[in-house]
Amino acid sequence: MSRPVCLRRVGCFPESNYFKPRGIPLSMLEEIILTVDEFEAIRLSDFAGFYQEQAAKRMNISRQTFGRIIESAHKKVAEALVKGKALKIEGGVIEMAETRKFRCSDCNHTWDIPYGTGRPADCPSCKGKNIHRTDEDKGYAKVSIRQRRCGCQRTQK
Ligand SMILES: [Zn+2]
Repeated sequence: MSRPVCLRRVGCFPESNYFKPRGIPLSMLEEIILTVDEFEAIRLSDFAGFYQEQAAKRMNISRQTFGRIIESAHKKVAEALVKGKALKIEGGVIEMAETRKFRCSDCNHTWDIPYGTGRPADCPSCKGKNIHRTDEDKGYAKVSIRQRRCGCQRTQK
């Protein structure tokens, strides 16, 4: 019997991963951690307007699992808004499976960096600023993520 492994596909990384109420010092703030799959659920369902069924398919998870993720995500966002807490989006229990490729136009050096680490400022080889993505699917990064507290059964390889 093989059941699907619990991979949650994320279509794009959040542009900003930290939101805080204005005028309150960071040290005084309580932080809420929104996981990247929760962010993705909000993006697909609330922002892009997908039905839960479709959104679940896109994330490669069951409709029930999606339901749990989006419910948890809504609660966290609501708590941040109502209680004036900071919202931090980060992996935590997820695992990035892919990398982005960059190329330097000055020295032709190419290198990979993991998703979620931000765009490099310069070429690691010559420190030139003339760098760009080499991936064909710019702007739509497929990231496979694995989450521990998922209810799915893991299949053994
Ligand atoms: Zn270079």
